[in-house]
Amino acid sequence: MIVNERIVSYIHSLEKDNSSILEAMAKYALNNDVPIIRKEVESFLRVLLLMKKPLKILELGTAIGYSAILMSECIPENGKIVTIENYEKRIPVARENIKNAGKEHMITLLEGDALELLPQIDESFDFIFMDAAKAQYINFLPHVMRLLNKDGVLLADNVLQEGELIESRYAVIKRNRTIHVRMREFLYQIKHMEELETSIIPIGDGMTLSVKKQICR
Ligand code: SAH
Ligand code: MG
Repeated sequence: MIVNERIVSYIHSLEKDNSSILEAMAKYALNNDVPIIRKEVESFLRVLLLMKKPLKILELGTAIGYSAILMSECIPENGKIVTIENYEKRIPVARENIKNAGKEHMITLLEGDALELLPQIDESFDFIFMDAAKAQYINFLPHVMRLLNKDGVLLADNVLQEGELIESRYAVIKRNRTIHVRMREFLYQIKHMEELETSIIPIGDGMTLSVKKQICR
């Protein structure tokens, strides 16, 4: 945990309940080891969406559709969400949840590896939520930049990797070391690109919030 545990529990204690479908999905996720956005990230996401009012959202990493359904509750009724998932076990569960939530008209689930699907997409988006393989963020980035409208918002989850990102490489296991190296590259790049203004926010597991700038100064 990046932030003091007591602070996080306190923040959680103030959160309101979600819709019953989301509450049931959160329980399923907990019991089946499905990673979903953290409680304190939910309201952050809701606030961002209510501010931005995106009509088109792209999500990388659907899992069981939790964040997609949550987002669909916060955008205009004519808004659309395209979400990508490559794990076969999770796809039917996500489809079922989207159907049960009555959101099939808003949410399109694309099956496959985001890295393969992204080049085939030829529509643009007002808001992109990156929450798939962390080691691929750096590779997703050029595609995401192509698909993101000016003034568009890019939000990426789990960028601080439980805080391990700043530990000595000897203190972390080899697999994570590679993820961390690539995540640090991503963070460096996203902070130094002329087209983006980015804030790294230590909420949840760490997030980056970027805006694609109209004017580059
Ligand atoms: N956004 C979801 C959680 C996503 S968890 C929520 O908050 O409810 C990350 C998901 O990304 C996993 O289900 C994983 O299978 C998927 N994933 C990882 N790499 C991917 C890739 N390259 N293409 C598509 N999906 C990927
Ligand atoms: Mg995540």
